Amino acid sequence: MKLQELVSQTAERIATYRDKVGDGPVGPTVDPDSLRAAFALGLSEQGTSSTQVIERLVAAAEPGLVATAGPRYFGFVVGGATPAAMCADLLTTGWDQPAFNAVTSPAAAVAEEVAGGWLKEILGLPGSASFGFVTGGQAANTVGLAAARNHVLARVGWDVESRGLPGAPAVRVLASAERHATIDRSLRLLGLGAGAVQEVPAGPDGAIDAAMLVRALDAAPAGPTIVCVQAGNVNTGACDDLALACQAAHEHGAWVHVDGAFGLWAAAGPSTRHLTAGIEQADSWATDGHKWLNVPYDSGYVFCAHPGAHAASMSFTAAYLVGHGSGPVRAPSDFVPESSRRARGFATWAALAELGRGGVAQLVERCCKLARRFAQGLGALDGVTIANQVVLNQVLVSFGDDERTDGVIAAIQRDGTCWMGGTTWRGRRLMRVSVSNCTTTEADVDMSIAAIERILATLA
Ligand SMILES: *Cc1c(COP(=O)(O)O)cnc(C)c1O
Repeated sequence: MKLQELVSQTAERIATYRDKVGDGPVGPTVDPDSLRAAFALGLSEQGTSSTQVIERLVAAAEPGLVATAGPRYFGFVVGGATPAAMCADLLTTGWDQPAFNAVTSPAAAVAEEVAGGWLKEILGLPGSASFGFVTGGQAANTVGLAAARNHVLARVGWDVESRGLPGAPAVRVLASAERHATIDRSLRLLGLGAGAVQEVPAGPDGAIDAAMLVRALDAAPAGPTIVCVQAGNVNTGACDDLALACQAAHEHGAWVHVDGAFGLWAAAGPSTRHLTAGIEQADSWATDGHKWLNVPYDSGYVFCAHPGAHAASMSFTAAYLVGHGSGPVRAPSDFVPESSRRARGFATWAALAELGRGGVAQLVERCCKLARRFAQGLGALDGVTIANQVVLNQVLVSFGDDERTDGVIAAIQRDGTCWMGGTTWRGRRLMRVSVSNCTTTEADVDMSIAAIERILATLA
């Protein structure tokens, strides 16, 4: 088969899959052993025709796919993909550009340049901030904290990029007890160690206790300090008080990193923007494209108010040149930990061009509104309580004691109308609902609530 035909057929398959992704059961339906049997054909000596390979791949994989792209997947914080973003990502694969710099792909470099500017505008970040297109929130946190490490140590005369950490002044990290687990992994990767964290308690809603943060800063001896705050608690959606954290941290010469993997997008919605007040005063920010912006995996962004520290911590050409300094086009690889890398800018550019500023605002507002609809509908059912104040797109649900709640979650997952996961929050087992997909409608929420009501009746 000609390549043209194979690509067309593959595109057809994708279109059909996406068209039907909302129809079948949402969760996984096969056991790993049957998937293993389907994939483990035996590595042949001769290879197989491309057409056959794709046919076999589809046959083997489709039963093991989870409808995470569909409208009734509410597990973790999983976004869908806008049509233009998905197609731009298909083009990215077809074009196969190494987005290292403007020599390997001028188009990839400029698309990132433009999309990065749009992101800053929509999120209310300083126009002068540098940015990197990375694989996700984990990578964005790592890069933001690497820039922080560079900067706070440079301030005490230590060049961490050349000398490393042996013998360096200790770096203290103040972070909420409710920080995301990826922060600790980033600290481990950066050699600061998860043990560098001095934990600050969180309030009842899951946001950092700002008074305790101020007290911790006041009590701490002067020295390199990073304050790690959060926009969007993974359980409750609560956002830390960024304005207060930034003011207090800066009075103490500390760097403020904001982990806003999904919550940073609150800044794009008129009725949620207040949750991120003061956002522009931070030093670095991490967020995801693949969560709330609905760009296909993998897509994350890091922004930094100190481009010099950002480039010094990432670039491997010359630490003193920002973006290969002299070149007319920003070099994407100077701001990320990869050299050869996917041209991630195209899909983000497409999502933003398609949605526009108003479309992004609507996406955020609609997801929040649907989350409130969930809270209202589920909260009205017998024996069901909503365990958080729904400020964003996250809802926590209790069906009674831990055992009962886990039992109901398992029954919902078996039923397949929708998919929600479980969590432990403040010592209680709860169901966690995240509304993050641009294709989710009120009807999807109502259908999910009806299914849960039906399941509760059968379990009673
Ligand atoms: C999802 C999430 C992360 C990690 O992002 P990935 O894209 O999964 O790497 C970090 N912090 C928070 C608050 C998150 O919700």
